[in-house]
Amino acid sequence: MLPVLAATQTPPTSPRPDYVPPPRPLVPETPPFAETLEFAARPVAPRAEPFPMPQVRLLPDSIFHDAQEWNRGYMGRLAADRLLYTFRANAGLPTGSAPPLGGWEQPENGQRSSELRGHFGGHFLSASALLFASTGDAEAKAKADYLVAEMARCQERLGGKYLSAFPTTWWDRLEKGQRVWAPFYTIHKIMAGLFDMYRLAGNTQARQVLEGMAAWADEWTAARTYEHMQQILTIEFGGIAETLYDLAAATGEARWAAAGDRFQKRSFISPLALRRDELRGLHANTHIPQAVAAARRYEISGDTRFRDVAAFFFDDVSAGRSYVTGGTSNAEGWLAPPGRLAAEVKASANTAECCCAYNMLKLSRHLYAGNPDPRYFDYYERLLLNHRIGTIRPHVGTSMYYLSLTPGVWKTFNTEDRTFWCCTGTGIEEYAKLTDSIYWKDGQGLFVNLFIPSALDWTEKGLRLRQQTRYPEGERVTITIDGAPAGEMVLRLRVPGWLESAPAVTLNGKALDASVAPGSYLALRRAWKAGDRIEMDLPMRLRAEAMPDDPQVQAFLYGPLVLAGDLGGEGLTEDHIVGPNLRVGAPNVEQHGSPLGPLNRTPPVPDIEIPTFRAAGPDPASWIRPTGEPHVFRTSGQKRDVTLVPLNTLFDRRYSVYWQVT
Ligand SMILES: [Zn+2]
Repeated sequence: MLPVLAATQTPPTSPRPDYVPPPRPLVPETPPFAETLEFAARPVAPRAEPFPMPQVRLLPDSIFHDAQEWNRGYMGRLAADRLLYTFRANAGLPTGSAPPLGGWEQPENGQRSSELRGHFGGHFLSASALLFASTGDAEAKAKADYLVAEMARCQERLGGKYLSAFPTTWWDRLEKGQRVWAPFYTIHKIMAGLFDMYRLAGNTQARQVLEGMAAWADEWTAARTYEHMQQILTIEFGGIAETLYDLAAATGEARWAAAGDRFQKRSFISPLALRRDELRGLHANTHIPQAVAAARRYEISGDTRFRDVAAFFFDDVSAGRSYVTGGTSNAEGWLAPPGRLAAEVKASANTAECCCAYNMLKLSRHLYAGNPDPRYFDYYERLLLNHRIGTIRPHVGTSMYYLSLTPGVWKTFNTEDRTFWCCTGTGIEEYAKLTDSIYWKDGQGLFVNLFIPSALDWTEKGLRLRQQTRYPEGERVTITIDGAPAGEMVLRLRVPGWLESAPAVTLNGKALDASVAPGSYLALRRAWKAGDRIEMDLPMRLRAEAMPDDPQVQAFLYGPLVLAGDLGGEGLTEDHIVGPNLRVGAPNVEQHGSPLGPLNRTPPVPDIEIPTFRAAGPDPASWIRPTGEPHVFRTSGQKRDVTLVPLNTLFDRRYSVYWQVT
């Protein structure tokens, strides 16, 4: 028998249908976070680390490589001087002949302007740094280096610390509790972009500009009382604490962490520390980054309260507040109690905001680093395959705002230069960093967590490997060792939780005794040789997942893939697909938080009736049959039969993911 280590056994991920609210421990009612947080740097060593992105490359001819390239194309079409327009205008510098961007980047222009302007410039820096780290794209780095240099000029002109694309008078409005969109949210995106340019692209000027901005933020927040800051934190501010913690860790200056602590919102973290879900009514995508900041706070200080906040938040949202795609939120918030997703999905058509998915993926990476449990990657894969791949427009590279789950909707995408939603910004980052989570390492060896055609070069150990697969279109994953390390090393393959039994695995053509449970790792310890080849088959089956609060509302999956029913493309035009972000049939839900008001530009489309189904038996395979085309199914024996395809492959068509099934 070939040598197989006992695999780590963890129970399979609990699916939403079995959702039970987490137990509330008997704890004192006193909130555990007092006014004064004391920071001391006591970094916690991660139990697993992702490989640096330059050591991982996507191989061509896959849905992941396509997404990377389509996104690179879109980023390449955005001119640097247009991205800089509002920064220069705000600093009183010439804006040149380049026209400004529109949408959420719109400068002062008569009646219209956007108070989020500048946020996309920050995302663009992050995305460029990520793209450079993922692909070595020197042109992307040069363009972002130019942006940093020009932003530095703007900062100099504004006094050397403050930098943004809007005037400082907005801070007075924030301070006085007057209406203003989200200035700290915007500042954070710029700071995070500068940090990423420093961390991933070696741009030291970016770090200097960031330190100036951090000094400004430190002084501004230090001048307010604790209670006043807590009031200010009721206005969307996102993940600024995370960037300040990152800067503290990078520089060794505790000052930045203390500034980050002023962005800890007690009314959010205290209930979570007590394992209470008090998320109803909150804005989702300003709070998910706060959970990421809590995770980061633990990593740099060892304060376990913050780890517990982040871990409970993740468990609660991923199990009780996530749809079948892994996506969460509705109309940018959480409208229902946990576990009430059938009710939640009816509350608006604006379900599952894409930037929430981006930030939940980020949070799961932090938690996995501290606790390398494969269930984090079951969740990661669900979101990645169903909510991230499939929300970028093929060949064009634009991306989506909401991945709506309202029956009869269709996918809508941002325009080239007149939109710039929050999710456009996280979108360009997402598809620039598809190399960042496939392979992880610890003292024993490596983990293969995602099945993505790619090559890994672990330079320090002399290990080079290639992963080839058509997954999730195909079921086989092949890993070939191209360069072997000296001595023995453990290679752990994630065995997905959605499998029904142990996968068949071979090493150099010989079957391994891989009686390993789904939702765990298959660990192979061996003195590897160049040419060694591992093959793992992941057989997919059709299955149903019901809503936790309504067993008759069901979605269907094939292996890891959520299926969508194709309801036709009648009446859909390019105008419906590009630009608008509210869907037909939506209740009157305004775009949360936006002073631009509702953007309901959707012209009418034909009314359609959404089919309902009568199941022939508990196994959906008894009445939903393969058509012979890969991953295409069709219902049988229904009043109106429907063709089902993976949601991530369906574009320019109306669809339904959830069905009424009796
Ligand atoms: Zn968003």
